[in-house]
Order: sequence, then structure tokens, then C-alpha cells
Amino acid sequence: MPEAKLKSDFAAGLVSFRGIAAVIGVAIVVLIAGCILVLLEARADLIYRANLMAENILVLAEQTVEIEISRYDIRLQDIVSTLASPSVQDGVLPDAETLFGGLAERESAGDIIIVNATGQVLISSRPEITSKYVRALPNVLATASFGSNGLGISSVVKARPHEPEVALIRRVRDPRLGQPLNVIAMLPMSWIQGVFSQIKLGDRGIIGLIDANHILLARQPLPPDKLCLPIPVPAALEHQKPGAIFHDERKSAIDGNYRLVTASRVGDLPLFVFVGLSKEDIFQGWNERAIVLLVAVGFLAVVVVALTVAVIQQLRSKLLQDRQLHELNHQLEELARTDQLTALLNRRGFDENIAREWRRCRRSLKPISLLMIDADYFKQYNDHYGHQSGDNVLRMLARCIEETIRRPGDIAARYGGEEFAVVLPDTHRDGAMLIAEKIQAQLASLAIEHAPIHGVVTISVGVANAVPGGAATVEQLVALADAALYQSKTDGRNRITLAGSQPAA
Ligand code: GH3
Ligand code: MG
Ligand code: MG
Repeated sequence: MPEAKLKSDFAAGLVSFRGIAAVIGVAIVVLIAGCILVLLEARADLIYRANLMAENILVLAEQTVEIEISRYDIRLQDIVSTLASPSVQDGVLPDAETLFGGLAERESAGDIIIVNATGQVLISSRPEITSKYVRALPNVLATASFGSNGLGISSVVKARPHEPEVALIRRVRDPRLGQPLNVIAMLPMSWIQGVFSQIKLGDRGIIGLIDANHILLARQPLPPDKLCLPIPVPAALEHQKPGAIFHDERKSAIDGNYRLVTASRVGDLPLFVFVGLSKEDIFQGWNERAIVLLVAVGFLAVVVVALTVAVIQQLRSKLLQDRQLHELNHQLEELARTDQLTALLNRRGFDENIAREWRRCRRSLKPISLLMIDADYFKQYNDHYGHQSGDNVLRMLARCIEETIRRPGDIAARYGGEEFAVVLPDTHRDGAMLIAEKIQAQLASLAIEHAPIHGVVTISVGVANAVPGGAATVEQLVALADAALYQSKTDGRNRITLAGSQPAA
């Protein structure tokens, strides 16, 4: 295989290895990116669903609180309309029975107290427990904030232990004094706590209610030491419009859990319901799946990369070995065609090359010339100077031949012993004769002493020329050149004979 092709095959092999490595690398990156994308989408989906669930729960909880408050409010409005009736306006307050109805009715709407503007109790639905509220009433009146519908809500009332309440207030003019009367219903937060406790929000989910001062009124699960105390809330919650839903992600100040928090205002009241779903709960399955998937994909990627590297290394070393083997074979083939003494082609190389050039000239209808060169009286030279010196002369003669022939297609070979051959493709007889003369002159210029013949080393040359075609063969050309060489010898040596021409003088 030619050297250039070997090198280009080797380079192509390396390029294709890099190509394979690049394709596998890209495939792994795409696989990992795809997995991450799927996981992120699944995560976003979990957040979406969690928010949806939280919003639904929030709406229901908010409406439940609102309905409960309006249930109390209806009762308050009943009492207010009774107080505003013409009979009462005459100056006499009705008794508790008239105002609050029967016992069962009274209890269903909590404790109702009617107080004057200074917080003094005038009538109570359950006089036996009224004393508990007496101290709280001035604060109830001071903190009450009234909505557009005339219903007021106070801040938290802590009249009973572990039982926070919120006072709902409606005002009416005192029929006797013309002063405002406050009709107050105590709404116990335990009822809301009871509703919240029914809602399932996962292991770490929470639902709660706070007032405008961020006081925790109810929460499931209930932290007893935090009830009725302010909790930190995002500032944006303050400006939350009725009906709008607020989303946040925060760490709980109570238990340290990270939660997705959804919150909304209860109607247009100064109360806020919030639902917090623990991120740990939301992503529990996802986290495990993500870890398993990423570990599996990572492992797969490592295995694929390791296998690819191993295979490429093996292929690479195989390619290298092949290349070295080819180079070795090439060198061996060169060696098999090269003469060790002169480094010219040997007889085998000569045979192959002249056959090739013969075919080429036949195809292109070009002439081909052959020079057969033989050292004169070389046996005597050897005998006189020794075989080593004879070898040196043969090397010098080889250099003379090599330096004379110039064209790329010209071939010089050691035909055998002290005999050389020169193939000159696309060369007419005149050109061939010229080359022969040059070689002869080149050798003569070296003036290698040949004592036995009392002169210098000379050569005899036989020149043959042919245009390959028809029945003509290489062997015939060689025979012609040989005959011409023989002619040179018989004519006295140190001369050039052109085959088929008259002997040189
Ligand atoms: P002629 O002029 O007729 O060619 O006489 P010659 O002595 O050169 O020819 P002959 O065929 O009688 O002898 C060839 C000699 O060439 C014999 C041998 O000593 C010598 N010879 C052949 N091959 C080598 C070689 O490789 N090295 C050396 N030093 N001498 C060689
Ligand atoms: Mg000879
Ligand atoms: Mg000879």
C-alpha cells in the first residue's frame, strides 16, 4: 500500500474516532438534558397542582369563615333592627328574652353583649359569663374596624384561656339617650379551628387564619404557644384585594418548614386565610425519582463514555499497529527490490520496473531505451586490489549512473555482479547514447586506477531502443542490449554500442 494512502487512512481513522466520540458525547448531553427537562417539567407540574389544590382549599376555607361570620351577622342585624324599632325608640330597652330569643338560639350564635359607647354592659345573652368580657370590652371597641356594610371586627379577644375569639360589632343609636349602642357577638375561633382540623394537607401542610395585625387566630396543626401572637407575613399580603390570591414561598417561623404559601383575604374583612403546602411533601416522590433517574443516567453516561474510550483506544492502537505493519511490509518490499551494496534496484526490482515502464510506453506509444553497463576487466581489479576495493568501485559506478539519470521515470539497477542496467522510458536512441556517454565520462572523471591493465576503471555499454507494441517483448529489448554490450566487449571494451548499429570505431 502506498505510504501516502496509509497516512491518509490513519488520519481518516483518527477523524472518524473523533467523530464517533463527538456523536456519543452529544447523545449523552442530549440524554442528560432531556432527563433534566422532564424532571423540571414534572416539578413544575407538581407545583402547579399543589397551588391549584391550595387555592381550592383556600376558597372553601375563606367561604366557610365568611358564611360563619354572616351567620353571626344576621343575628346581630336582627338585634339591631329590634333596637331600632319604634317601640324601643320610646325609651325602654327590651329584655334579653325579646332580644336574644330562647336558650338554644342564644348559644347557636355565641355570646351577645350590648354595651354603650364607654364599654359598659347594658344587656347580655348569658349574664353568667359576661364578667369575663368586661375587661376586654374597651379594647374591643377601640380596635374595631368597620367595613362598608357596617359590620365591625375587633382584634383578638383573649377573655377565655386557650379560646381566642373575635368580636363582631354592629352599632345602633341608643333609643333612650340618643347615644350609639354596640351589639357585640363573640365569634370563637375554636369553631374555625375545628373546620381547619378536618382538612388534610399532608404531613407538613398547614392552614390558618390571621387578623389585620398578623395575630394568629387559628392554625392546623395548632402550636398552642403561638396562638394569639403575631406571626411574620409578607408585606404584600397587607395590600391583598378581596378575591385575589397571594402566592409565596417561605420558611415557616413556627416549625422551620419550607412551604408554598397561598393566602387570601376573607371577603373585605380584615382577616386572612392561608394554606401552606410543605415543599418536602410536594416533592417527596419527585426527589426520589429525580435521584434514581439522574444516578441511572449518570451511570449510563459513565459506562458509555468508558466503553467508547476503550473501544476507540483499541481501534486506535489497532490502526497504529496496522500502519506500522504496513510500513514494515513496505520497507521489506523495498528491501527485497534493493541491492544492498549499491542501494540501486536489484534484479527483481529491475524486472518489475522495466515491465511496468514497457507497458506504459506501449500505452503511450513512446520509445523506451535500455543501457546494459559492465565493468571492464573487473576480475583482474578484484584480484589485484581485493574484493573490498572492488565493492567500492561498484558503489562509485552506481553513483555515476544515479547522478547522470535525471528524469523521474528513469531507472537504474544492479543487474548482477559488476553489471548494471539503466531503463530510460520515453527516450530515443540518441538520448540513450547521450546518457551512456555521460555515465562513461563521469566514471572516467573519477580516474580509478586499474594497475593490472595499466589504466583506469572503464565500462562497456550496450544500448538498445524499441517502441513497445505488436509482438515485441521486454526480453527482446534486454537481449538486444546484452548483444550490444557483448559487441562492446568484443570490440575492445571501454565503449558504447547501439544495438543494430555498426560497431564503434
Ligand atoms: P570483462 O571485461 O570481460 O567484463 O571482464 P571481467 O573480469 O570484468 O568479467 P568477468 O565476467 O570475467 O568477471 C566478473 C568479475 O566481477 C568477477 C568478480 O570478481 C567480479 N564481481 C562480480 N560481482 C562482484 C561484487 O559484488 N563485488 C566485487 N568486488 N566484485 C564482483
Ligand atoms: Mg566485466
Ligand atoms: Mg560481467
